[in-house]
Amino acid sequence: MSKAETTTGQRPEQAATKQRRRPGQSLVCGWCGGEITVRATGRTPKWCSDTCRHRAWETTRAANAGRLAVQVVDRLVEVEVPVTVIETVEIPTTPKGAHWISALHELARQLDAGKIYDRDLPALTVALNEALDAYARRPAVRTRQHTRRD
Ligand SMILES: [Zn+2]
Repeated sequence: MSKAETTTGQRPEQAATKQRRRPGQSLVCGWCGGEITVRATGRTPKWCSDTCRHRAWETTRAANAGRLAVQVVDRLVEVEVPVTVIETVEIPTTPKGAHWISALHELARQLDAGKIYDRDLPALTVALNEALDAYARRPAVRTRQHTRRD
């Protein structure tokens, strides 16, 4: 391996990455001297393993920083992967206009079917009376002289 190939700067190997390499070739690891099998495509390998690549990088960095002692510590870091979950949730909406008619029919049906809790009945009584009173206050209703059971 030539010295120029391991230093930064011009990278002559990049020109060849688009061509398939002749099989059966091997290179020498720049760190440990071990054998590297050259793959048919991709970047020309400099190191036999991630470990050697990392150690070489650490040493270069330490040399650049003027330090000699280098300690390489592998750290396990867990990362969270965001997951999108779609849930279908029924959101109660307030009826408008003529939709109240079907809503009140539905209320009657649910009362008959026992789907309204007994504990909610007192508050429902208040709400129903309030609605009936408001209904009776409407001029169009008053002029018709509807009879009410009081
Ligand atoms: Zn190596």
